[in-house]
Amino acid sequence: MTPAQHVVAWLTDAKRVLFITGAGLSAESGLPTYRGVGGLYEDAQTPEGVTIEQALSGGMLRRDPALCWKYIAQIEKACRGAMPNRAHGLIAAFQDRVETWVLTQNVDGFHGQAGSRNVIPIHGDVHELYCPACGWEDRVHDYADLEFPPHCPRCQSIIRPRVVLFGEMLPPAAVSRLSEQLQRGFDLVFTVGTSSGFSYIAQPVLMAASQGIPTVEINPGKTPVSHLVMQRFACGAVEALESISSAWDASLRRPPIT
Ligand code: NAD
Ligand code: ZN
Repeated sequence: MTPAQHVVAWLTDAKRVLFITGAGLSAESGLPTYRGVGGLYEDAQTPEGVTIEQALSGGMLRRDPALCWKYIAQIEKACRGAMPNRAHGLIAAFQDRVETWVLTQNVDGFHGQAGSRNVIPIHGDVHELYCPACGWEDRVHDYADLEFPPHCPRCQSIIRPRVVLFGEMLPPAAVSRLSEQLQRGFDLVFTVGTSSGFSYIAQPVLMAASQGIPTVEINPGKTPVSHLVMQRFACGAVEALESISSAWDASLRRPPIT
């Protein structure tokens, strides 16, 4: 059996599947991964003399909103004009055959755009803006019309995106949705395009592995969970998901997903 056929055998038996995704999934949409965002994360220091983690922190947004917004805007600019890729589409198509959940660290909103319904965007979405002072909120297509730092149209306070900045807590609603779904359990866990640096991202893979539940990693590079997974695809997300999807079609003798 090929690696893809192994995965198809697990998919065939599975009732609930979890995809954990990170910046690598959107790399083939042209979005830079974390360390590539305008080269920001290559350097320890920003030109302003603070680290990027300090610049993109909740504390900095309060102390120096213009500085923090400069780097938030760079992240949004990296998403601008880009589209979900075939890998987002194939993950969305999985839900027609098996209950599929997506836990993503990406703030680009691509899973929803590609049609995935059960998405837990644990770090938020850069396109959702709100005012912490008065509760005003809006969903924007991009930041092209914003002046930085942007002000609330209702009360003139500085607004912010609904994303998790460094030093901030994860959104409670997303956390409880995730723990609810983890408690219900998954029969197969994929981890795609993430360096698995956060414990809540690595944890579902560790839990599944310790319980003998099949796990699959798709990543051209090695990560802290690579040695634990049952099947590894050391290639890009599109190539790996295409091969799994074709093998699944073949096993069902159905026409391919278009
Ligand atoms: P990361 O940059 O730390 O890791 C990216 C991983 O993707 C690496 O392990 C790399 O080997 C892998 N990769 C590269 N190309 C790939 C491909 N074509 N297919 C599959 N894998 C590929 O990203 P992370 O683990 O998501 O964590 C970084 C943080 O950055 C998160 O907090 C996230 O919110 C934020 N972020 C989001 C976006 C986005 O929304 N698209 C982009 C950059 C960063
Ligand atoms: Zn306001």
